[in-house]
Amino acid sequence: MVECVFCKIIKKEIPANIIYEDSKHLAFLDNHPNRKGQSLVIPKKHYSGYSFEMPDKDFVELMVRAKKVGLLIDKALKTERTCLVLEGVWRRSCPCKAISNDARNI
Ligand SMILES: [Zn+2]
Repeated sequence: MVECVFCKIIKKEIPANIIYEDSKHLAFLDNHPNRKGQSLVIPKKHYSGYSFEMPDKDFVELMVRAKKVGLLIDKALKTERTCLVLEGVWRRSCPCKAISNDARNI
């Protein structure tokens, strides 16, 4: 099986600008951001590309970590809010994208 790009990032085989890491999750700056500070929060365990196939416990843990990363982005960029978007339509893993919701950071 060919590993997905996220598994390679987790193994540090592909460089990434990591902004948060714990035993189960990793967050890094998006290489193609729509907004400054846009980041991807991913579980270290590989899942299918459809987030809703994750076990409830793992899905909730991902949301809690994404909230934490969003607050880190708020603090770092001095923004009021960061929104979360679940992706996974075409990807082989299920990232949660944290996007600064501040027009100053476009
Ligand atoms: Zn993977």
